[in-house]
Amino acid sequence: MNLASAPEPSAPPRRPRVVVVGAGPAGLTVANILRAASVDCVVLETESREFIEQRPRAGFIEEWAVRALQQRGLADRLLTHAQTHGACEFRWAGERHRFAYGELSGDRHFVYPQPLLVTDLVRAYADRAGGDIRFGVRDVELHGIDTDRPAVSYTDPATDERVRVDCAAIAGCDGARGVTRTYLGTERATTARHDYGIGWLALLAEAPPSSDCVVFGIHPRGFAAHMARSPEVTRYYLECPPGDDPENWSHERVWSELHTRLAAAGTPPLTEGRLIEKRVLDMHNYVVEPMSYGRLYLAGDAAHLAAPIAAKGMNLALHDALLLGDALAAYCAQGDGSDLSGYSEACLPRVWQYQEFSQWLSELLHGTSSGDPFKAGTAGARLRRILRSPAAAAAFAELYIGKGVGN
Ligand code: FAD
Repeated sequence: MNLASAPEPSAPPRRPRVVVVGAGPAGLTVANILRAASVDCVVLETESREFIEQRPRAGFIEEWAVRALQQRGLADRLLTHAQTHGACEFRWAGERHRFAYGELSGDRHFVYPQPLLVTDLVRAYADRAGGDIRFGVRDVELHGIDTDRPAVSYTDPATDERVRVDCAAIAGCDGARGVTRTYLGTERATTARHDYGIGWLALLAEAPPSSDCVVFGIHPRGFAAHMARSPEVTRYYLECPPGDDPENWSHERVWSELHTRLAAAGTPPLTEGRLIEKRVLDMHNYVVEPMSYGRLYLAGDAAHLAAPIAAKGMNLALHDALLLGDALAAYCAQGDGSDLSGYSEACLPRVWQYQEFSQWLSELLHGTSSGDPFKAGTAGARLRRILRSPAAAAAFAELYIGKGVGN
């Protein structure tokens, strides 16, 4: 926040311009909406294009989000290539229990790796619509966010010079490790945080999926999960101590634990493969409230993080981005700031519903391995309830697929 080092303000832009900080799913969706509305927009990204188009993360997109992207012409390749899933399976006490949330809710997940979505969104914005996106920028700083002439400055990687972009508004879409959130400070926003006290070893295996759906393995040795990504690649998770070193997990140990924790009567053995990603996630969630101050509007992981327990993070990022893109477009095109002033309030109900669901599901998935017989008992009761009560099953299905949870 070193205002002294910022270059002097240049002449005010002739038309309202938005600076989007961060080219993840949130920032690129905002940028595409602005571009389609002919709003002047600059996207700033610290990494290279090659890097963001290959960074593996999410893979499950909820149907409402896919339909919203489709309406904006941003889902052509997704709809052609994604598989859809409408069921998941709980493996518990040696038994498998299939749960058909698609039949109950009417909606499905689209299995489409995040790097493919990012690639599509960059192509649509930069290559097809000629949008301005600057990769490899360094030391991004915001200026005057509580004025009507905010700006963003950064160091240009080619010249090493500071560049300043004046604008009408800033979309802070720079993820959990970005800088825009810090400009809200403790006096302008509160950050609510929940630590799960567990780690997940996140793995990508060069192996075809071993099931046609997401598999949750609830086991005394620790939780495990199987999630398809593509016909060649599968994501797996293993519960581990927080802060564990991925090097503690050899190829043999990983596959031995996965076989044990995902075992159930009548299931085929897992197909093993080379591990191409192995990292430990310290599982925590946070929510920044409100999600805006002055002319800075946060979206996606910059505003709230949901550990990947219920596959919610990218979906929430898209939800924010759709609302923010439309609100900024209306503001820049017609000067109508009514949606912009209500932006944070419009996003937060879904954010909190997803946070609550992630915490609830976490207790169900990790109780058995907690070492606490009370937590194990209540986790078992929770699972039996959604497997046996139609009303509980319907409520679970809606939350899992994100239907009817906007308020
Ligand atoms: P990001 O994708 O983090 O994008 C932020 C961008 O900003 C990045 O490109 C970053 O390089 C850039 N940036 C950072 N700092 C700066 C700066 N100072 N200036 C400029 N640019 C900057 N979610 C789901 O919905 N479903 C899933 O199945 C799922 N699985 C997951 C699995 C794993 C292992 C992980 C880690 C996450 C998973 N998530 C999932 C969460 C999901 O990946 C995130 O919620 C999503 O990436 C958020 O998008 P975003 O655009 O807000 O942030």
